[in-house]
Amino acid sequence: MTDLDLLELRQVSRHFGSFRALDEVDLTVRPGARHAIIGPNGAGKSTLFGLISGTLSTTAGTILVDGQDVTRLPVDRRVALGVAATFQHSSLFMQETVLENVLLAVLRRAGTGLGGWRKVSARATAIAQAYTLLERVGLPTRHDAQVAALSHGERRQLEVAVALATEPRLLLLDEPAAGMSPAETARLTELIAALPGEVTVLLIEHDLDMVFELADTVTVMHLGRHLKTGSPDEVRASTEVQSAYLGTKEVSS
Ligand code: ADP
Ligand code: MG
Repeated sequence: MTDLDLLELRQVSRHFGSFRALDEVDLTVRPGARHAIIGPNGAGKSTLFGLISGTLSTTAGTILVDGQDVTRLPVDRRVALGVAATFQHSSLFMQETVLENVLLAVLRRAGTGLGGWRKVSARATAIAQAYTLLERVGLPTRHDAQVAALSHGERRQLEVAVALATEPRLLLLDEPAAGMSPAETARLTELIAALPGEVTVLLIEHDLDMVFELADTVTVMHLGRHLKTGSPDEVRASTEVQSAYLGTKEVSS
């Protein structure tokens, strides 16, 4: 590791019984990176995100965020260190409105919860922040809609707003374009491209056009192992990668 890495995984493994979903994976992500992780279905990509965000525990290995060992830290402590994730399976409150979902995340970040909500000044600040976030993800007119009434693409945009509400330094996006129309994917790609440089992005995505448009670094995983990390051009040119992944029609889920 250099001092510059925001995230470092050292020999990280996750077993489910005797099955090695992840096997001795090394990975570094530098601050400001637009780093994509690709690989066939079952490669261990989502498991990797679970280990980084803390929703899953590691079987072996060490995970460092900004040089600090977070391997045994619970999710909320990692969020406080700037790690935020959107998950492949939505974790939104479906019966609440768009604004309420973002507000809850903003209040959680402020550490005030509903106590802060009772203070009128804090309330105004939180609402203003929530509106700003919704504008940033392209949902400026949908604040009063119930989440259940949103399109699939709008929900994914909202998930990004909820993740950004925690003011992350490292944003983990697990297949954000899954199930999106081409127009929605294009909008999401723009949104991610427009994120400020302070937000480092680690993106799992099977839409390779999106990957090659956004990413400055690409890691290929296969059967729980790290296969290759390089520039998009290096990864595209790798015959090893082509035979493991790019040459196949398979997409991940
Ligand atoms: P990817 O996101 O790359 O498609 P996953 O990380 O979801 O892959 O899964 C990697 C492998 O680990 C798969 O074979 C999957 O079936 C297995 N796996 C994931 N979660 C569990 C679990 N909770 N119990 C048992 N096996 C699991
Ligand atoms: Mg997955």
